[in-house]
Amino acid sequence: MLTLDSLYNLPKAELHLHLEGAIPLPFLASLINRNSPDQTVTPAELESGYVFRNFGEFVSKWMWTVGQFQSETDFCELVRAVAGNLAKQNIVHAELFFSPFDYPPGGLKAERITEEVIKGAELAMKETGISVLFFADIVRNHGHETAVTRVERLIPFRNSIFIGIGLGGSETGYPNEGFIPAFDRAREAGFRVVAHSGETQGADYVESAINGLKAERIGHGVRCLEDLDVVKLLKNKQIPLEVCPVSNLKTGVISSIKDHPIRQLVDAGLLVTLNSDDPTYFSTNLNNEIRVMHEELGFSPEEILELLKNNFKASFLPEKEKEKWLSVIGRK
Ligand SMILES: [Zn+2]
Repeated sequence: MLTLDSLYNLPKAELHLHLEGAIPLPFLASLINRNSPDQTVTPAELESGYVFRNFGEFVSKWMWTVGQFQSETDFCELVRAVAGNLAKQNIVHAELFFSPFDYPPGGLKAERITEEVIKGAELAMKETGISVLFFADIVRNHGHETAVTRVERLIPFRNSIFIGIGLGGSETGYPNEGFIPAFDRAREAGFRVVAHSGETQGADYVESAINGLKAERIGHGVRCLEDLDVVKLLKNKQIPLEVCPVSNLKTGVISSIKDHPIRQLVDAGLLVTLNSDDPTYFSTNLNNEIRVMHEELGFSPEEILELLKNNFKASFLPEKEKEKWLSVIGRK
């Protein structure tokens, strides 16, 4: 019989995970203590600061956290630290966002960050045996005016690890339409493209992510349910949704976990995957999402297994790799 424990022990994939949002607190404490040798913070002291009442407070905490990076080489070490945590959850494949443009002019350089992320990924894959792929988040709230330039700057680094461009950050005031030229340029250059949409804004954002940005997966997308035509579009194209239940609670997209619409998304025939988004910020990880799905949202272990299979199906792994992992978990 399938149990929660057997799901925790299953080889798993995670598709919606921000590198900086998965920063292990001991790693963050080591950065802070290195930068300010006159003070000492502990991981436990840091933990209490990761509480938000809304998306704006979340973004503020994000900027404070990434402000602790003082050198591009910190990213290499971060990738290794995050991959170590993923391996402990039996995650065998992860697709992560990194945000190389979150630094002011004269600060860390996007190109060097990208190089260090790739280097860290190469080392981490050898050290842990897991596979990782990366998407650069060109961040909505940095504006669409310079988005094409941001993509252009990263094109020379595209390789078998750094495969894609993503779009995160605040949806309000930064609609998808402005980012169409940047996404066109990214696809032309051979990047895979994904976009957060329909998280804090409505179903129209999901529609424009599909038809305008030609996004291959939608981050969150939970508000697609507000428009049945958009649900139909997602269903017909089987465009995967990267759903992150605890994240939606912690950023105030929903007011109670019991209100999470993941059951409706599954019942509507959508390709739903399960993810943790920013595990350090939201005190979660993929195994905790599994627990919440069962204990709070009433999904049986068998139903959760189907979502975990979707995580492999919706990944950008080669078909052979997908089949291998699906057959491994299908035997459990
Ligand atoms: Zn996200």
